[in-house]
Amino acid sequence: MNETNAREKGMGRLLAALVLVGLLGLAAPAHAGDILDASCPCGYHKERLFLYGGRANFKTICLFPALCKTSREITLINVLDPRRDPRDCKASDALSYEHPSLAPTEPGKSMSYWRLSNERTVTIYEGGYVCPRCGQRTLRFKHAGNWD
Ligand SMILES: [Zn+2]
Repeated sequence: MNETNAREKGMGRLLAALVLVGLLGLAAPAHAGDILDASCPCGYHKERLFLYGGRANFKTICLFPALCKTSREITLINVLDPRRDPRDCKASDALSYEHPSLAPTEPGKSMSYWRLSNERTVTIYEGGYVCPRCGQRTLRFKHAGNWD
């Protein structure tokens, strides 16, 4: 085997690998929520927030971070049913992190988003959100996995 043949064989293998990765991507469930961690330099942190929806419930549930004003903790509200109380807060006390008073002033890149069936998209940006503990715009979300 000469050098050119060996290189072509290598390219063929690379192409096959790329096609396989593409197929696996297509086979993945279309509706898989993100798992995010939230943290602030002040020490506040909340781990494993299961956002958006899963395969079984995405039509009725879209969970999004909110600030619970009574507990000063991050809670999850259902964007598709905002009047329903979150597990650990009253709906009337929970303010969505989409609200301008909590969202980053200069959002920067989006790091996580979910497209709702009514063409509305909810987004988490890289930039600083208002921290439930120190009140500064220094809270950040980090991708920690997926669920469905
Ligand atoms: Zn803080």
